[in-house]
Amino acid sequence: MSAEDTSVNNASDTTSANQQLAALSLAADFASGPPKTPPVLEGLHLRKHFPLRQFGIGVTSNVVHAVEDATLALYPGRALALVGESGSGKSTIARMLARLYTLTSGVLRFEGKPVTNDGRAALREYRRHVQMIFQDPFSSLNPIHSVRYHLSRPLRLYNHAQSKRQETDKILTLLDRVSLSPAEQFIQKYPHQLSGGQRQRVAIAQALAVRPKVILADEPVSMLDVSIRLDILNLMSALKDEERLAFLFITHDIASARYFAEETMIMYAGQVMEGGPSDVVIQQPKHPYTQLLISAAPDPDRPEEAPFQAHGEIPSLITPPTGCRFHPRCPHAMPVCRERFPGRTNLGNGHWTHCFLYGEGNDDTAPAPPSASTSTTASAGHS
Ligand code: SF4
Repeated sequence: MSAEDTSVNNASDTTSANQQLAALSLAADFASGPPKTPPVLEGLHLRKHFPLRQFGIGVTSNVVHAVEDATLALYPGRALALVGESGSGKSTIARMLARLYTLTSGVLRFEGKPVTNDGRAALREYRRHVQMIFQDPFSSLNPIHSVRYHLSRPLRLYNHAQSKRQETDKILTLLDRVSLSPAEQFIQKYPHQLSGGQRQRVAIAQALAVRPKVILADEPVSMLDVSIRLDILNLMSALKDEERLAFLFITHDIASARYFAEETMIMYAGQVMEGGPSDVVIQQPKHPYTQLLISAAPDPDRPEEAPFQAHGEIPSLITPPTGCRFHPRCPHAMPVCRERFPGRTNLGNGHWTHCFLYGEGNDDTAPAPPSASTSTTASAGHS
């Protein structure tokens, strides 16, 4: 059985892979400085509430407060990691940026211009630039179609191949680009003939086929065997650098975030907690929740005793805690934390946090709330 023949992980493998990533990231140099180019895609004050319908009555009664006031920017040739536990809202943000979910409020801006809800042609054009890679490589490909079919569709849809010969050449080039070689052998294969890692490479090739500027990668390695996670991260890293792709990298694994992404943003229960250069956020976490996340992650260099423990569970997003949603678990919670969510406090060098321990919020660089919301039309299933 090859290294790519399974996608089932076990806890000890996961721990050793995280330790491997942590060790590698120590040696890596990601001090590439602040972005020198304008962002290609921005989400400003994104909010997403999902109405819940009562069975049999059809009356909207409850709302899932999935994301509250999240602002982020993606730059060419750089990656932003969105890190948090399940239910933190990070995948919802990716789907809003992909325009799979409408916005409850907020604005998307692509290359400096607001993205408006003006029809299918505009949505198709948007998707030409903004592609998504999903977590599950087993369900992202149709089992009854070959690799050729999966890669020819985007080429035809966006008119990137003028003849059958050109289409075949481009598919072979794409397969080589994602290190599926010999490409001539892979082009005729079906998903069931591929391992999990090979399927994820096909999914990446599919995203690349439209020549995007932005890739939204939702936990792209979490379902893969630990032995091939690093290969996929390195492949995405090469694409980021060589093709100047802007990446959003969704993960619950802090070591992967530090290894792959220049910037990291931490989310908890739909609220953004802390962000900045990955090395700074992870080596000098300020927010109590970031400290909790990092203390829970395996680290060969840290003493066995975790420095910080929080009690309690992630709250319900139907009736979320008031103010800072981390307050029921936070050992530093103050009365004000229950009353309102703190503004963004600038900690210097691109590092910022939302926490009253560091002030009420003084970050002039945070974008102002938009004057009007922009909605985008849902065009695919929710998950
Ligand atoms: Fe804790 Fe208050 Fe800071 Fe929230 S705002 S993390 S409750 S101290």
